[in-house]
Amino acid sequence: MTFDVDLFVIGGGSGGVRAARIAASEGGARVALAEEYRMGGTCVIRGCVPKKLMVFASAFPGQIEDARAYGWDVTAGDFSWPQFRAALDKELIRLEGAYRSGLVNAGVTIHDCRATVEDAHTVKLADGRRIRAKHILIATGGRPFVPDIPGADLAITSNEVFLLDALPASVLIVGGGFIACEFACILHGLGVKVTLAYRGDQVLRGFDDEARGHVADAMRARGIDIHCNSDVTALERDGTTIRASATGTAGGSYDAVLYATGRKPNTEGLGLEPLGVRFGANGQIVVDGYSQTAVPSIYAVGDVTDRIALTPVAIREGHAFADTVFKGQPRKADHDLVAAAVFTQPELGTVGLTEAEAAAQGPVEVYVATFRPMQTLFAGRQDKALFKLIVCQTTRRVLGCHIVAPAAGEMIQLAAIAIKMGATKEDFDRTCAVHPTMAEELVTMKSPARRVGNA
Ligand code: NDP
Repeated sequence: MTFDVDLFVIGGGSGGVRAARIAASEGGARVALAEEYRMGGTCVIRGCVPKKLMVFASAFPGQIEDARAYGWDVTAGDFSWPQFRAALDKELIRLEGAYRSGLVNAGVTIHDCRATVEDAHTVKLADGRRIRAKHILIATGGRPFVPDIPGADLAITSNEVFLLDALPASVLIVGGGFIACEFACILHGLGVKVTLAYRGDQVLRGFDDEARGHVADAMRARGIDIHCNSDVTALERDGTTIRASATGTAGGSYDAVLYATGRKPNTEGLGLEPLGVRFGANGQIVVDGYSQTAVPSIYAVGDVTDRIALTPVAIREGHAFADTVFKGQPRKADHDLVAAAVFTQPELGTVGLTEAEAAAQGPVEVYVATFRPMQTLFAGRQDKALFKLIVCQTTRRVLGCHIVAPAAGEMIQLAAIAIKMGATKEDFDRTCAVHPTMAEELVTMKSPARRVGNA
């Protein structure tokens, strides 16, 4: 059988681009990639990157206030959303260009259009052209999911936030996960009155209970109005505002309603169902450890597989796929001990087991330090940082680390190296502190706050 290309990648996001680049530049493969929107995918165009830049923008009012406490004669002026958006657009265009030139330099042929799969080795482009590929990689990512409630079309999602012409004066954010909490802090920092409605008892389900409580308390202390056990049941237009009906206490009128209620894999309409590719309950493509689907020539990486929906994980899945199929180096992406950060203010950095997960596995010691960081204490703030280590009583290994503090994302990356290497609490203890820092708490916690879990 002859093929036009060795690999056809559908989707120009983090996972697809990495796989295409490695297959072409290191695996010597003939590679084509189709992207129907903008190169870079969720992370670059409407996720991690613009979000993080908004986090930076939103932190300045607090920093300027603190600067006054340090003796600087400064006051925050007005924030210009149009000016910020113009700069953001420019930066995204630059990044998009970098992704594109990375592919071109690796010898990848780019098709700026939608592509679907016709059979196990044929990709059909939107203009009707057919390309025969030895292998096909689906890396089409995901999209925001909005529950089917009356008036759902009045809501925006994280996709639209970056495209707003003006910031609303007030917003209701629905959901209590990564995106809901991050945007609550961002929009609050930019001067928007933020109300958050979450259907459960406490936001950030799945994270360590003490850490999520700490983040929620800090968000409330900053003025974000969090309503737990409250879910929006309907939206309707009410003049210039949107009226939200809700169970619990979050009902009312808001200038905008932002839904952050999870994401769905982009699998519909790709033509995969009749070919025998299998799907999970959330619509995700089911793959094995090598990212191979039930159809041997078709693979899938990233959010479309709904394993761990994080950019660095998609990149590693794409890289492992390319190594396996095109470099003769079979390997699985490692999904164990993946560190992550929620860019709330303060940030939450996490790696490994939560206290409850660890206690369910056996006896653990829990080390906790809460304190007011020097920098903000001096400025008269009440903010508290939380550092937490969960240690197996038998092996002494650190099973989990959870940090709520400014720059927790930076700190957890470094702690994760030690934990991935299997560091014990005694390894942490014999590491000399860097003083004065917040992170020194990681190596100076002497006695456990408690011992939990049964032998
Ligand atoms: P999450 O899964 O984190 O959170 C979804 C939230 O929506 C949960 O609070 C969930 O409640 C709630 N929810 C789900 N369905 C409904 C419903 N029908 N009605 C009401 N509430 C509902 O998803 P996000 O959209 O926030 O983020 C998607 C993924 O993207 C994350 O899981 C993460 O992997 C990734 N991401 C990573 C970031 C980072 O690394 N900093 C930043 C942003 C996203 P419940 O808890 O009750 O299920």
